[in-house]
Amino acid sequence: MSSNGNGKHVKVLVLGSGPTGYSAALYAARAELQPVVLTGMQLGGQAALTYTIENYPGFPEGVGGAQLGELFQKQAEHFGAVTEFASANSVDLTKRPFKVETDNGDYWADVLIVATGASPNHLEIPGEVELTGRGVSYCATCDGWFFKDKKVVVVGGGDSALEEGLFITRYASSVTIIHRREEFRAGQLLQKRAKEHPKVDFILDTVVTEVMGTDKLEALRLRNVKTDQETIYETDGLFIFIGHTPNTQMFKGQLDMSDLGYIQINERMETSVPGVFAAGEVADPHFRQVVTSAGMGAAAAIQATRFLEAIEGTEITATD
Ligand code: NAP
Repeated sequence: MSSNGNGKHVKVLVLGSGPTGYSAALYAARAELQPVVLTGMQLGGQAALTYTIENYPGFPEGVGGAQLGELFQKQAEHFGAVTEFASANSVDLTKRPFKVETDNGDYWADVLIVATGASPNHLEIPGEVELTGRGVSYCATCDGWFFKDKKVVVVGGGDSALEEGLFITRYASSVTIIHRREEFRAGQLLQKRAKEHPKVDFILDTVVTEVMGTDKLEALRLRNVKTDQETIYETDGLFIFIGHTPNTQMFKGQLDMSDLGYIQINERMETSVPGVFAAGEVADPHFRQVVTSAGMGAAAAIQATRFLEAIEGTEITATD
């Protein structure tokens, strides 16, 4: 990394510090490219907010999300990756080196690896924004503790809703999972665990239409989608796990994207702009697992290394 009055020049800039970002940084560091990782708002990404990860290979007993994130970071830094606590505000991909603006100054990158992940979706119903942090949450690991011996509702029918709902049973007196239909997207194992848990019950074919309360959450307005019947349901907590949206806003108009806003990549993690690679949830609407994201990050860095070799015509240390 070199600095001048106009900012810092780096060979490889990684946007995002989740499993994708640090796997990319590990491979780029081992190729002696001195990658810089801009952490974004959440060091370790979404995975770091997960209480236990049971399906990352190599950890037969499971591993804490934050702990796994620290291990990823430590390993990448061991080989020379540098972590900078900054978020990209805007990018200019019209020419290389690419310009990335942050609150801590500008970066100029020979190659860019976009690993900005995804953010939780909101229900977008009245009261949701006002009562976020006052009973409404999108993170069980962060906020579950505040609901000790309280009644909690979880919205969603995917792996996240059931996994996080089960996690909240550690604290809450009851966890009611509200889902808009009868079938769940969640895997069979999680469904079985949730259905058998004594603190968990279900309200199906039902949506939440309003979050009610003045200073804090007091109740939810529910609507049965089959009968249209409305009810008021008292609760202390509302955890919303209804999927994610890729964090791609700042790349709009600069990188090709799908209708849902995922960055389009080929099998080499190449985007529509040569020298810009994307990996993990920002480009993957299908798998969205820690292990698949980490694999994509590694692939992006290998391809970024080849890209730099081709344009610089220099020999760079092998990645393996
Ligand atoms: P997801 O699989 O997309 O599930 C989202 C759930 O929210 C669905 O049940 C959906 O209902 C519901 N939903 C969506 N919009 C809604 C709305 N406006 N109102 C009410 N309900 C709404 O999302 P996810 O659970 O976050 O999982 C994302 C990915 O991560 C998946 O691939 C999942 O397998 C993976 N994941 C894996 C693990 C694990 O392996 N342990 C843990 C967490 C996540 P419908 O079903 O009716 O569409």
